[in-house]
Amino acid sequence: MLMDSHAHLTLPQFDEDRPAVLARARSVGVRTILTVGTEPAEWEPAVALTRGEGEVEIYAALGLHPHDASTWSEESAESLRRWCAEPRVVALGEIGFDFHYLHSTREEQEEAFRRQIRLAKEISLPVVVHSREAERETLEVLRAEGASEVGGVIHCFSGDGEMARQALELGFFLSFSGSLTFKNAGKLREIARDIPVEKILIETDCPYLAPQPVRGKRNEPAYVRYVAETLAKLKGLSAEDIARITRHNALQLFSIGSADTEGKIAYRIRDSLYLNITNRCTNTCGFCVRNYSDFVKGHNLRLEREPDAREVIRAIGDPKSFREIVFCGYGEPLIRLDLVREVAAWIHEAGGRVRINTNGQGDLIHGRKIIPELAGLVDAFSVSLNTENEEKYRTICRPRFGAGTYEAVKDFIRQARKIAEVSVTVLDLPDVDVEKCREIAGKELQVGFRMRYYDEVG
Ligand code: SF4
Repeated sequence: MLMDSHAHLTLPQFDEDRPAVLARARSVGVRTILTVGTEPAEWEPAVALTRGEGEVEIYAALGLHPHDASTWSEESAESLRRWCAEPRVVALGEIGFDFHYLHSTREEQEEAFRRQIRLAKEISLPVVVHSREAERETLEVLRAEGASEVGGVIHCFSGDGEMARQALELGFFLSFSGSLTFKNAGKLREIARDIPVEKILIETDCPYLAPQPVRGKRNEPAYVRYVAETLAKLKGLSAEDIARITRHNALQLFSIGSADTEGKIAYRIRDSLYLNITNRCTNTCGFCVRNYSDFVKGHNLRLEREPDAREVIRAIGDPKSFREIVFCGYGEPLIRLDLVREVAAWIHEAGGRVRINTNGQGDLIHGRKIIPELAGLVDAFSVSLNTENEEKYRTICRPRFGAGTYEAVKDFIRQARKIAEVSVTVLDLPDVDVEKCREIAGKELQVGFRMRYYDEVG
């Protein structure tokens, strides 16, 4: 399910075949489009499109584009305020600076930009920002006007790494368009690769900027899939993962509601299936994604109640259709040792492979050595070691068991090594000595090592 987070469906380029354009979008999985009305003459048609009953949900962003900033007036401000009260108008934009064409003077652009941010704050809408050849000025105005209060997106991002970093710091999303697919866009792809996927939207900006392999044609929402495919390669995810994650990001930003309203028991990322069997944990890591979001890679993982083994097995389907099945979730799976054993035995019988992502505190949780109970049921463990010593572990992970937990985790790893492949994971946190952790994994514990990023659980 894709979302084209920036399209200009009201433009005359679509007058001949708008219904066919929407049908083609639907046929490739586009379920939601944000159409953008960039001047007063487009606001009413954009709102009219949001009232359509078609199979693609259309929402609108309305604003005065920097090209037209010279026409900003009290009347246009009042009119914009009125149209923004429509239920499916979910953002104010596109607004900002365009110093490439300078159709309006810099001063006029700045005045319209600032006034529209203030309006967005008054009516509590996020902003869609256009910034061309004006990186410093855009960031300055966003900061000075306190735009973080409502948040927003830098659409069709074309800035450098420093602008990306500062926009993320302000809490903004970055949206990538067809230009990400262009042969000469190596720098832009590097930026997209390096920023968290949770902060990315995708768009067509149609009818402009058609991506490869349709470059040069009129662009349309169906082509957003080419942007998703390019981003998927950069992120090492599947195009489906990117579609789900970027749509979720956009739905959250524009307060449209969530694609997933119920917590999932089983969820797919790439070709692996992850099992979410508990939200409880014996750590209270400061960085844990559970502290600030119900979602991981676009999947809702906040469980209303813990599933039983039968429900988990039903949610898995055919274990052979996945490269591996991972007990992970949004909490510590070994809290539910009996369920893990039952489901893992079923997965093995059905020809699947089992991995457990754990904090390594299973022995402390159950008051006995549990590894012998998992022999023959588990193919791999991934254990969060996280730090290079006890003191840092207690500060960062805040384990319920207090002193001695770090050594108990290391002992769990030594035991686990006897029955399965084991790797330890370590976070990319500034206080952690990654090289020391790598040494502990390789020399002391004799297991594999993997860097982990803050949004992964387990
Ligand atoms: S990051 Fe993992 S170990 Fe830490 S609190 Fe969250 S689920 Fe528990």
